[in-house]
Amino acid sequence: MTIRTRFAPSPTGYLHLGGLRTALYNYLYSKKHSGKFILRIEDTDRNRFVPGAEEQLISTLSNLGIQWDEGPDMGGQLGPYRQSDRLDIYKKYINKLIDSDNAYYCFCSTERLKEIREKASKEKRSTNYDRHCLTLSKESIQKKLDAGERYVVRLKIPDTENIVLDDIIHGPVKFKAELIDDQIILKSDGYPTYHLANVVDDHLMQITHVIRGDEWLSSTPKHIVLYNAFKWEIPEFAHLPLILNADRSKLSKRQNDVAVENYLEKGFIPEGLLNYLALLGWSNKDDMEFFTLESLKSIFDLKNVSKSGCIFDPRKLIHINGLQLRSLDEADRKNRIQNYLEKTFIFNKSGDWINNFIQEIQERIKTFNDISVFFTPFIEKIEFYEKKPAKKFLHSTFSIKVLNFTADLIKKTKLSDHTELDRSLRELAENLEISFGKVAGVLRVALTGRGVSIGLFGLFSLLGKDIVLDRISQAIEFINNDYEEKDVK
Ligand code: GLU
Repeated sequence: MTIRTRFAPSPTGYLHLGGLRTALYNYLYSKKHSGKFILRIEDTDRNRFVPGAEEQLISTLSNLGIQWDEGPDMGGQLGPYRQSDRLDIYKKYINKLIDSDNAYYCFCSTERLKEIREKASKEKRSTNYDRHCLTLSKESIQKKLDAGERYVVRLKIPDTENIVLDDIIHGPVKFKAELIDDQIILKSDGYPTYHLANVVDDHLMQITHVIRGDEWLSSTPKHIVLYNAFKWEIPEFAHLPLILNADRSKLSKRQNDVAVENYLEKGFIPEGLLNYLALLGWSNKDDMEFFTLESLKSIFDLKNVSKSGCIFDPRKLIHINGLQLRSLDEADRKNRIQNYLEKTFIFNKSGDWINNFIQEIQERIKTFNDISVFFTPFIEKIEFYEKKPAKKFLHSTFSIKVLNFTADLIKKTKLSDHTELDRSLRELAENLEISFGKVAGVLRVALTGRGVSIGLFGLFSLLGKDIVLDRISQAIEFINNDYEEKDVK
């Protein structure tokens, strides 16, 4: 049997981190078993449809290196892979369900439905549909259809005691049939609902393993009813744990915090995001944390996925991203940093300069976002000094001495002669009876305005003699004029 998994997003906007994890686990599981991974677009909910979302989804997944074997953009033998292109197929299967008495037309108005729901709720009874239309005669149904009355089609949930799901992750889960509503499977706009389309497609696309988020667990008994009604084999199910905020609430709804596109824009690399998401709910017996996509294809297993929700830890994501960034091949890393710089900043620097800059920062950054703090002193004037480092380093007599000494030193020494610069500044530290760290601190703040920067000698060479001297003068003036609030932030 060929293992076939699918990622079935609805094109309702951005790709959610949880969605990416679902896609990743489906992808890995199929690859591990030399199977096929399918991308299917579930766009039957026209109210939530967002134009362009499908294209964006496809491009984000591709940029991340998750490649499907069949999908709306490339076709495949069991397509089409976009649900709005399959409406005739769903009609045919809905009719089959009506003919076999597993589904029925419902002509109830929204007002009636609202009324019975409110009444039941007041009387503390189940608010499920009261099956008013289940007993309509064939003739009256035909009359209503002929008269063009609006209708939906409902699935008839059998009155069996329990529906049991044997989930790969949760084990056996029981659902009481009497609690399940007669689900609408065809809406009055002529579109099937998620439940019907999802089951029909999973069957026709020969999906063997349905791997999806826990939020779909409660829908699964309805799906099982559908499989049984069609007399189809039921696929394996694996429901993945929810991703939670630190306070155990469902992962923040704010788009900035959950949109994969945002993380890529914020300077995370695909390798870092995927590695972190692989670990979000899945663990391996050696508790290893660094994985390439390739290595995950053989190691990943649904058996080690946890049942309970897992907490999203942004710090760990940054840490893992740093590991992945450092493990990139050097030329590749340089390329990506350069692309990021060109995309993010407007500047005019030579290729050599950029290479040297990248050399300086590549070990210091965990995400590309970290580059900004190192880069801006080279493309912007110092308008103010950061308050804390300025208070610490730009205040006293030794600051002025360090700055004056360095100005003289710079004038007579080549900026590339790091040995001489280092020797002289260390000698100065000794003479002033302060640590070298303090000397470097004064110069760092004077040259960048900040407490964090690339290495001191890198700063000298990348700024160039003129700017180093200008900034030293600016800092001396700042110290001599005492602090003014507008000069520090
Ligand atoms: N279209 C559903 C979603 O947006 C798919 C759920 C499933 O995988 O069955 O997540």
